[in-house]
Amino acid sequence: DACGKELFEIKEFQLSEGDLSDDDFGHGSDKCNWKTFATTDPRSGEVITMVAEGEKDDVDLAVKAAREAFDHGQWPRMSGFQRGQIMIKFADLIDQHIEELATLDSLEVGKLFSHNKLADIPSATRMLRYFAGAADKIHGETLKMGGPFHGYTLKEPIGVVGHIIPWNFPTVMFFFKVSPALAAGCAMVVKPAEQSSLSALYYAFLAKQAGIPDGVLNVVTGFGPTAGAAIASHMDINQVSFTGSTEVGRLIMEAAARSNLKPVSLELGGKSPLIIFDDADINMAGEVCVAASRIYVQEGIYDDFMKKAVETVGDWIVGDPFDPHVHQGPQVDKEQFEKVLRYIEHGKREGATIVAGGKPCGENGYYIEPTIFVDVKEDMVIAKEEIFGPVMSLMKTMEEAIEKANNTRYGLAAGVVTKNLDIANRMARSIHAGSIWINCYFAFDSDCPFGGFKMSGFGKDLGMHSIEKYLQVKSVVTRLHDSPW
Ligand code: ADP
Repeated sequence: DACGKELFEIKEFQLSEGDLSDDDFGHGSDKCNWKTFATTDPRSGEVITMVAEGEKDDVDLAVKAAREAFDHGQWPRMSGFQRGQIMIKFADLIDQHIEELATLDSLEVGKLFSHNKLADIPSATRMLRYFAGAADKIHGETLKMGGPFHGYTLKEPIGVVGHIIPWNFPTVMFFFKVSPALAAGCAMVVKPAEQSSLSALYYAFLAKQAGIPDGVLNVVTGFGPTAGAAIASHMDINQVSFTGSTEVGRLIMEAAARSNLKPVSLELGGKSPLIIFDDADINMAGEVCVAASRIYVQEGIYDDFMKKAVETVGDWIVGDPFDPHVHQGPQVDKEQFEKVLRYIEHGKREGATIVAGGKPCGENGYYIEPTIFVDVKEDMVIAKEEIFGPVMSLMKTMEEAIEKANNTRYGLAAGVVTKNLDIANRMARSIHAGSIWINCYFAFDSDCPFGGFKMSGFGKDLGMHSIEKYLQVKSVVTRLHDSPW
């Protein structure tokens, strides 16, 4: 790490000959002429490696491979049980390569190595196993129709699907999308964010080793307006799942409508409130607040909570994401780093007061101190826009917590900290958001659907709901002769 400590050993990892063939690279023998772009290490801004810059032609090749796999291949035709077995093998292989995968996400986006290894990647393999178990439980229903008819429904995989994902949780987002789509029997083209290509490529490599047939899981690395847009507007893609900004979500939906009217599911931005009531356990409030960006605190507990929050972030160590003592790594890249600092400046200009942090730190790299603003007003930019950085805004509130929580165009999630069951349940019913966390924040599991209301999008990831978007329902009706029905 930066201080010269030896923290862990990076295993040498080499593909051996025969692991991949030219066919695994859409361009075959042209592969040396690929256009590439640099992916950088946010600890230093240095280039890690060059990544293939996929464009429309590459998306076309990937879709062609996916179409072939879906229209003529084994994957949608084998039993759900068999698909599930292969998905479990995929999860087992990820477990075996967890160090390399955790390293890639830390190197490329600055996420804490320990979090990757202990939380993000295990939650991803859990998703694979959860949906593997669901693969043989997808079935239609029988219908007692009026008249001399026998009806039933079939649930069929929707076809070739496109997944466009962001950099904030490279591994988790990949499996949010890929796991239910695999279980449903779809073939897919995944475009990771340009800031986080490496683990996605490694997952594609492991998928092949697990026995997922060629063409079922394709990864095209590249930029949004080229590779991403080609997926959204592709005539041979049957559904697109997107996680990212509200602005780009709108473009995806427009492109889908203009091309082949493919259904889309959008998991978009959020400005999720956390509401801390007077009776909250102050330690719990301090614990959950670190993940929140817009915090409403009831007047009676405001001063104590502010002290606790400042203390909590004061103990934070910002630094190398590979160091196990570090609480917060760097921002993903220069652009994001500058954007967060601009928001901090904006907050100051608008009259909010900084009580912790507020500056970049470290000599190199994209590190920013955890920052707490107080005296924040509802209409300030820092209270309204998604910042995607270590910046929280504290606001004092009296009785109007529900209106304030709902005073946003977003509706991704919300948190409530209170010991009062009545308040907790009332808030859960009244807040317009897809997830409500009571005395916790940012709690996920494979069976808990996640996805927003309002301009945070529609369509759920995780849970059995999420398989539905990769399926379509077909009604089959047979006329019965001489039936007494
Ligand atoms: P963030 O603000 O989290 O970076 P974006 O919405 O910009 O979110 O990016 C999320 C994903 O959408 C990334 O994979 C990005 O490359 C892709 N993307 C960006 N612009 C477009 C676009 N015009 N069409 C399709 N995908 C896009």
